[in-house]
Amino acid sequence: MDNLLNRIKKDYPELSIKNGKKFTFRPPKTIIIGPSEPKMELLLLHELGHALLHHEDYKTHVDRLKMESDAWEKAKELSLKYDVEFDDDLMQTELDTYRDWLYKKSRCPICGLTRFQTPDFKYHCPRCELLLNKK
Ligand SMILES: [Zn+2]
Ligand SMILES: [Zn+2]
Repeated sequence: MDNLLNRIKKDYPELSIKNGKKFTFRPPKTIIIGPSEPKMELLLLHELGHALLHHEDYKTHVDRLKMESDAWEKAKELSLKYDVEFDDDLMQTELDTYRDWLYKKSRCPICGLTRFQTPDFKYHCPRCELLLNKK
């Protein structure tokens, strides 16, 4: 891991890499490294993926999922460059947690139906808003 970290620091001197509670990318140029774990090299490459793709705000939740899968695709590329073994299962598990999160976020707290987002990022429930409009 130290070896990988040193190579990344050398290749991307513009990035600031710090230790923290969990793996995160903080736009525009900060990568936070979480606690030691078996897959930490891939998690680091994933956060590097966000940085190299210039991901900024997580505007809509749907875009967030797209950003996550793009960052994983980038991590896959980087894993070849840095000789880190890529793990598709890890990628799928990580993406699933975003899918679950997205699903929970999008559920209507009143009726449980899946809501949709308008361009202003507000959620709307097709059922409850219809009922409101009828009143
Ligand atoms: Zn990510
Ligand atoms: Zn509803």
